[in-house]
Amino acid sequence: MDLETMQMNLARRGYIVSVFDTAEEAAEYLDGRIDGKNVGIGGSVTLDKMGMYQRLSAHNNVEWHWHLKEGETVQEARTAAMTGDVYLSSVNGISEAGEIVNIDGAGNRLAGTLFGHSKVYYVLGINKIRPTLEDAIGRARNIAAPLNAKRLGCETPCEKRGVCYDCQGADRICRAMTITYAPMMGQETEVVIIRKFLGL
Ligand code: SF4
Repeated sequence: MDLETMQMNLARRGYIVSVFDTAEEAAEYLDGRIDGKNVGIGGSVTLDKMGMYQRLSAHNNVEWHWHLKEGETVQEARTAAMTGDVYLSSVNGISEAGEIVNIDGAGNRLAGTLFGHSKVYYVLGINKIRPTLEDAIGRARNIAAPLNAKRLGCETPCEKRGVCYDCQGADRICRAMTITYAPMMGQETEVVIIRKFLGL
């Protein structure tokens, strides 16, 4: 994988791109950039492992349904995260050409990346990168989603067999998929790449 070419491809699409050697450096960077803001965060093992809730909530108002405030419900946190200054998400796959693939069950993460914030950060380890869009979609469906189904203990075929069977049951976690070709209009978007394997 040629990270420099990928950076160029993302920049050509209109993204700001930052690259870090470690998750700690990326977390420091984000912590310094996001201050005094209303921040929404979508479900992300990457961002959770980086401790972004703890870091950012020390000097921002952060809404994340993985870290509820006292008395807050999951649905209230998801709704509150939908608008505000900043939104953070990881990705389920990204092509070297810069196409970003995400899958969602409740839709809050996809919606949060598409509208309602003046700045969006996609934060990802290099394990999310694939040569083509088709490969990035394949990663989202056959690696990220089954791992998430396992993490959540879903009654889905992928939870047991590790690949997608396009199930139709109540526990299906892949209910929509976005392919983002460029930053959404009016929404500055930055891709933060970490030269490590991070998240699912
Ligand atoms: S569609 Fe069903 S089987 Fe496929 S990854 Fe999603 S939850 Fe698993």
